[in-house]
Amino acid sequence: MPTANIAVVGLAVMGSNLARNLASREGNTVAVYNRTTAKTDALIEAHPEAEFVKAATMQELADSLQTPRTAIIMVKAGRPTDAVIDELVSVFEPGDIIVDGGNALFTDTIAREKKVRETGIHFVGCGISGGEEGALNGPSLMPGGTVESYETLGPILEKIAAVAEGEACVTHVGADGAGHFVKMIHNGIEYADMQLIAEAYDLIRHATGKSPAEIADIFAEWNEGDLESYLIEITAEVLRQVDAKTGQPLVDVILDAAGAKGTGAWTVQTALDLGVPVSGIAEAVFARSLSSKPAQRAAGAALPGPSSPWSVQDADAFVEDVRLALYASKVIAYSQGFDAIIQGALDHDWAIDKGEVAKIWRGGCIIRARFLNRITEAYAAAPGLVALVTAPFFADVMATAQDSWRRIVAGAAQSGIPIPAFASSLAYYDGLRAPRLPAALVQGQRDFFGAHTYKRIDAEGTFHTLWSGDR
Ligand code: NAP
Repeated sequence: MPTANIAVVGLAVMGSNLARNLASREGNTVAVYNRTTAKTDALIEAHPEAEFVKAATMQELADSLQTPRTAIIMVKAGRPTDAVIDELVSVFEPGDIIVDGGNALFTDTIAREKKVRETGIHFVGCGISGGEEGALNGPSLMPGGTVESYETLGPILEKIAAVAEGEACVTHVGADGAGHFVKMIHNGIEYADMQLIAEAYDLIRHATGKSPAEIADIFAEWNEGDLESYLIEITAEVLRQVDAKTGQPLVDVILDAAGAKGTGAWTVQTALDLGVPVSGIAEAVFARSLSSKPAQRAAGAALPGPSSPWSVQDADAFVEDVRLALYASKVIAYSQGFDAIIQGALDHDWAIDKGEVAKIWRGGCIIRARFLNRITEAYAAAPGLVALVTAPFFADVMATAQDSWRRIVAGAAQSGIPIPAFASSLAYYDGLRAPRLPAALVQGQRDFFGAHTYKRIDAEGTFHTLWSGDR
């Protein structure tokens, strides 16, 4: 007799927390399965209150589920996910729903959805953000797949998602791989956001000589204003932490080599394919790469730098400049991320509601922030907005911030403080503003050496010049 309405397959940290979250919601009975059964037993024993239904085999799992059967896969991304999908397909029936909650590349999700669809079973790639804490208490959820599958899945996900301002942080993002695509862009923005915050810290530290604890106070104060966000909040905590072993600020004893799991790189690779400049995100990914190259950095340490460090006269004014530069650069990172969403939706024929995406990022996820409401408002006022930064609210932010932003980027260049994400965001902003770009010269060069032709500003058609270098 089937008793469960939802199953979780894969009971490592994410899967077991998600299963507990599901079980804690009224009306849910959760079946659990893990390849290594000892893990299933351990979870059931540790959490009797969840009243999990144990499945020792995939067939038992299928038998325990009411129809349409719904199973959420939370296993290692890549081949393990394919292996589990194949097993589920062999025991599920048409109309059932397989959800992949892992961090899959959206193109894999598109391919999997296509393959599974042939069996009549629904396949939903669902982005899940918020790490293990989010999985347990309320993540931000980005499901793709069919509208039909969302009719069954939606009410279940709405109960376990984070809640922001009374609204569940979940929406049906779009067909097939749209959910994993949007989750990927979310992670790309997260990379940029983290890098920008790190650059702001580095600027204040080097130009004013303030201690990590003093800078923690600054971030805590910023968290009361426009920049209020989870990442600013935890940055204050990280900077305040003292190392138990040395008594030093912990940030000073952590090796300065940033790791990455690859979703930032996916965002940049995808953006290159889409032809969308996500320069802030790219700089954030590259900054992590540079930090993790000890041999090059050791060699580079001997290179000459500027003769004098930044001598800041008014520390309070400087810190306010940094805050505004951070705000402006952050707007650019989001603007670029949403550009990628717009182009991805066009290329893949997804009807993605950008305002809804901003809404579901307000809770549960790593980039949750006060200003996401402004993004929702911007797209509500102008659904066809071509560049988020041009929305009136954000254009006003730029008007307020740009002088500070320029002072910071110029000063950092003069004093040799690397701020690639701040600087590239400003360059992008000025590129966007420029009435005329030197791309005309590039077109001339291309026509010169390769007869690639060019267009004119005063006539239709394509043109080629017989350049003096032509033989
Ligand atoms: P994980 O370490 O990525 O994967 C471990 C799980 O995968 C175990 O249940 C393991 O089963 C299972 N597994 C591995 N190979 C398998 C195979 N060939 N067949 C069947 N099962 C197999 O676990 P995780 O950290 O909980 O993450 C789960 C998924 O969520 C991943 O895709 C991850 O990228 C994604 N995710 C993680 C986070 C995060 O913050 N950690 C956030 C969002 C999404 P055994 O016990 O039998 O080895």
